Amino acid sequence: MADGIEVKTPEQILVMRRAGLVVARILAALRAAARVGITTGDLDRLAREQLAEQGATSSFLHYGAGYGVPPFPAVTCISVNDEIVHGIPGERVLADGDLVSVDFGAIVEGWHGDSALSFIVGEPRPDDVELSEATRQSMWRGITAARLGGRVGDISAAIEGFVKSRRRRYGIVREFTGHGIGSAMHQPPDVPNHGKRGRGPLIVPGLCLAIEPMLTLGGEATATLPDDWTVVTRDRSRACHWEHTMTVTRRGLWVLTAEDGGEAELSALGVPFGPLSD
Ligand code: MG
Ligand code: MG
Repeated sequence: MADGIEVKTPEQILVMRRAGLVVARILAALRAAARVGITTGDLDRLAREQLAEQGATSSFLHYGAGYGVPPFPAVTCISVNDEIVHGIPGERVLADGDLVSVDFGAIVEGWHGDSALSFIVGEPRPDDVELSEATRQSMWRGITAARLGGRVGDISAAIEGFVKSRRRRYGIVREFTGHGIGSAMHQPPDVPNHGKRGRGPLIVPGLCLAIEPMLTLGGEATATLPDDWTVVTRDRSRACHWEHTMTVTRRGLWVLTAEDGGEAELSALGVPFGPLSD
């Protein structure tokens, strides 16, 4: 398409589903392994081992080479507490009550899957539990706002509308957005986490999107640490990030990076589940 949007064939989306399942399974393994006392580097090594076992490669490793930043040195982004996204795994030891976001992408036969989840290790603070749940639910509201013939702005408006409907006020990070995904991890169109219904590119069969709200317990302003990657809240408030890769078929929605394809969440929200079949 003229706007640079890559429209995938059903066969290509089936390969993206394989990449999505690799991402789902490895994220679940990282979630299960995470605990107080483990380092973020330990989690990254586990992801590397499992990627190799599954015959997939990393979307993140060496990302950014040639863009004036050091190539990303890991297969996961692990962002803790006031870190929003793009945290570099390393020697940091997870501590009681840490709010941890893990972002992970895998490539199968040249096709990408990209997903992120957040969780708390040790004793959670109630505010962090609420923040994570609001972020997760806003992601699902965004996903379920997508329909054939609709616009990308419908997704943005649904995320923003849900966040603003909460009794508590959250910051919605604007400097980073969701994105098209397929033969590259980041493609047009951008999928902002705020916007207006009826605006933006048309949602057509073969469009695959990564939908990824980032919310904070404080403001929306961000800063990048001297490592050139880690994005933090400028007010040092805690932040949270959830993400799924999804597509819209003629039958309904298909969440490529959810183990069940999104069936349970979609059903709970009254939206048709529409996987492609082999
Ligand atoms: Mg991601
Ligand atoms: Mg993404």
